[in-house]
Amino acid sequence: MNPVYLDHNATTPVHPQVLEALLPYYTQHFGNPSSIHWAGRATDGALEKAREQVAALINATPAEIVFTSCGSEGINFALKGSAQILQDKGRHLITTAVEHPAVLETCRALETDGWQVSYLPVDAEGQLDLDLLENTITEQTVMISVMWANNETGTLFPIAEIGEIARRHQLRFHSDMVQAVGRMPLDVQQAGLDLAAISGHKFGAPKGVGALYIRSGTRLEPLIHGGHQERNRRAGTSNVAGIVGLGVACELAGSVLSADVGRIRSLRDRLEDGLFSRLDNLNLNGPTERDLRLPNTLNLSFDRISGESLLLNLDLKGIAASSGSACSSGSLESSHVLSAMGVDPDRAQSSIRFSLGADNSIDEIDFVLQELPVIVERLRKIRPVAG
Ligand code: PLP
Repeated sequence: MNPVYLDHNATTPVHPQVLEALLPYYTQHFGNPSSIHWAGRATDGALEKAREQVAALINATPAEIVFTSCGSEGINFALKGSAQILQDKGRHLITTAVEHPAVLETCRALETDGWQVSYLPVDAEGQLDLDLLENTITEQTVMISVMWANNETGTLFPIAEIGEIARRHQLRFHSDMVQAVGRMPLDVQQAGLDLAAISGHKFGAPKGVGALYIRSGTRLEPLIHGGHQERNRRAGTSNVAGIVGLGVACELAGSVLSADVGRIRSLRDRLEDGLFSRLDNLNLNGPTERDLRLPNTLNLSFDRISGESLLLNLDLKGIAASSGSACSSGSLESSHVLSAMGVDPDRAQSSIRFSLGADNSIDEIDFVLQELPVIVERLRKIRPVAG
């Protein structure tokens, strides 16, 4: 069996059509898009085409898209750039306890700058209480930031309902939609968003490119000062090849990949049902109702086993999955997402995230269903039930 990659929430392979489209921009079309000569004009056109492709995927206009280097940059830009503009109105922002570190650490940085941040709790399935969200709003509140989909559990948040609350209270609304892009339909208008961050490498574009949606009329202080690129919103010579790739990945996400989502969902369900029928003492982390989760994500706790040893044993069989988020694996700290959901530390340590993608097949899932229960039983024998 070839290696099986079930870690698409960490990163995805570059889609062949994306690669084909972007390669000429490293050699043939190498001009700086800011240059007025023929070489610059060729790449400037490519940049604007990509802007249209990104905008079309999320129902924005091209002028509302600013290219960035990654999801983390877009999030920092959205939150810090807003903080500088809004600080005279109020210095309170509301987010959730289960955001990606890109949001949480940016909020901590704002706190050291005198901002007050409310980190909303979630319930056992990872869901927010929207009444609590509304009751947390004070005179000082100027912004809400809630992720569209959680990277560890796949939990989907009711973004349109939160957008409604933000509008009612005239608050700026940002969403980290890094995990949602390419996995579900997205409409920033319907969701009432002012700002939304995208990362290319999560859906078939290369690493090193992303975008921030900035609703027309939303003032934002730049994060990177310098040249006039991106209409003075983000300085730095554009990563033309990456941006071309991002554009094509967005176009594919709107057409080809959306047809794949149903197939990916059925593979995820096959894995979930198969594991529950073969193993006991298994717990799902995230909403039981599958429609409230990203279609590609499955987070499970395998009682009495450390997630790390399970990952290592899976790796020996060529199966790549993840424990906690990609950015925090490598450290043995429990996932902040699972602990916010009230999952006890032992159970959190025994959790594994499987995240599927378009390149996965039924045979691969069946291979995991054959190997994983054997590994689990073997590891559980080494560490029998206490008492
Ligand atoms: N937000 C979420 C939900 C993520 O899963 C990630 C990456 O894992 C990021 C933000 C950061 O994106 P990037 O790796 O492009 O900086």
